[in-house]
Amino acid sequence: MTPDEFRTHGKALVDWIADYWERIEDFPVQSQVEPGWVRAQLPEHPPEAPEAFEAMLADVDRVVVPGLTHWQHPGFHAYFNTGGSAPSVLGDLLASGLGVQGMLWATSPAATEVETLVLDWLAELLDLPRDFRSSGTGGGVIQDSASSATLVALLAARERTTGGASNQRGVRQGTAPMTVYASKHAHSSVEKAARIAGFGSEALRSVPTDREHRMRPDALAAAMDSDAAHGRRPSAVVATVGTTSSTAIDPVRAIAEVAGRHGAWVHVDAALAGTAALVPEMRWIHDGLELVDSYNMNPHKWMLTTFDASAFWVADRGALIEALSILPEYLRNEASESGAVIDYRDWQIPLGRRFRALKLWFVIRSFGAEGLRAMVRRHLELTERFEAWVDAHPAYEVVAPTTVNLVCFRHVDGDDASAAVMEAINAGGEAYLTHTVLDGRFALRVAIGAERTER
Ligand code: PLP
Repeated sequence: MTPDEFRTHGKALVDWIADYWERIEDFPVQSQVEPGWVRAQLPEHPPEAPEAFEAMLADVDRVVVPGLTHWQHPGFHAYFNTGGSAPSVLGDLLASGLGVQGMLWATSPAATEVETLVLDWLAELLDLPRDFRSSGTGGGVIQDSASSATLVALLAARERTTGGASNQRGVRQGTAPMTVYASKHAHSSVEKAARIAGFGSEALRSVPTDREHRMRPDALAAAMDSDAAHGRRPSAVVATVGTTSSTAIDPVRAIAEVAGRHGAWVHVDAALAGTAALVPEMRWIHDGLELVDSYNMNPHKWMLTTFDASAFWVADRGALIEALSILPEYLRNEASESGAVIDYRDWQIPLGRRFRALKLWFVIRSFGAEGLRAMVRRHLELTERFEAWVDAHPAYEVVAPTTVNLVCFRHVDGDDASAAVMEAINAGGEAYLTHTVLDGRFALRVAIGAERTER
């Protein structure tokens, strides 16, 4: 494709995307295709001769679109939303067009410095503790997902618990077994991270929750004390601000105080709910954050940014870099050795990295702080309104506290009735919701975080 052809097809593609957004409500939110349908529409073998771009775009309409669940549809209330604002899409396109790989400061200084700046901006917008800023002891980095953020936090915790020895000797040699703690409502990525980081699923303690599905600090204290008394080493606690099932907010301050008595690393997973702290009236969700070691929220969930962009901060970057840095000869360079620059390869699992900061930079500049706050307040208001409708309806009841932009409710006739309502709504195509189980009972979830959702 020549630059001129790229201009032509690129404009056609941008038009296609803008048209898609304009007609998105014409599609059923959830894809209606049967398993295997998409592949069956496409040739079994790759083309021998080059094909025209128009032919590919035609297949997008014919085959891909029917096979999509439309996450940007205003009636998408399933799981948690994912961002997709126009500025973020343009930022992603630009990152692809530039095609740089920002593993080291030296491999593209702008990729590193824009990222550091944008994460400092975001820390300011969320009013995060000063230690998380790059001017303090810590700093921020963009990970692909909250799962990766939890994993690198656990790796840093492991390294700190063993005084730097686990990287060299592995987790099992010469050290007492290490333990990790999270509430029973923590995301499954915590267990996955515990496995990958070498703690193992059995080392993960599932801490009981209170009636509002929040981790109980007294139960955490009991579990940590018991492990310590049995010669195990409590290494990390993952607190969740906005659990996946019901957006319960774990009491971060009390958890951090308990963890502090054992010298355990505290990571806060605020994947969805962290965005709420853009508005001062919601900052209570972060109470105690100045006591924790690391924190993550996903702009790609509620903050209008297209997947993937997960913002991760540490209070002390030294521990993280110690856990993740290995320097082979072929990456040595003067800038890194001067100590004056950040090399983000040392803050994540892979070596290579995309210029993801561009989309976040475009989002923050396009909406401005006031636009972002307005979006959060609008969604919170819609959520409150929806909750009031449920409350007022004799056939339904709200089953968990509504903390941010998710309402959990059920039909008063029980689980089968609730499931039937969900199936009927999803079959109708105008809205899509998913479920969870709370206290052993089926609960419908309505998440309200799509840019286009209106009353
Ligand atoms: N943590 C929480 C609380 C979540 O709700 C989710 C996903 O919904 C995740 C982690 C995983 O997010 P990611 O897809 O960014 O790994």
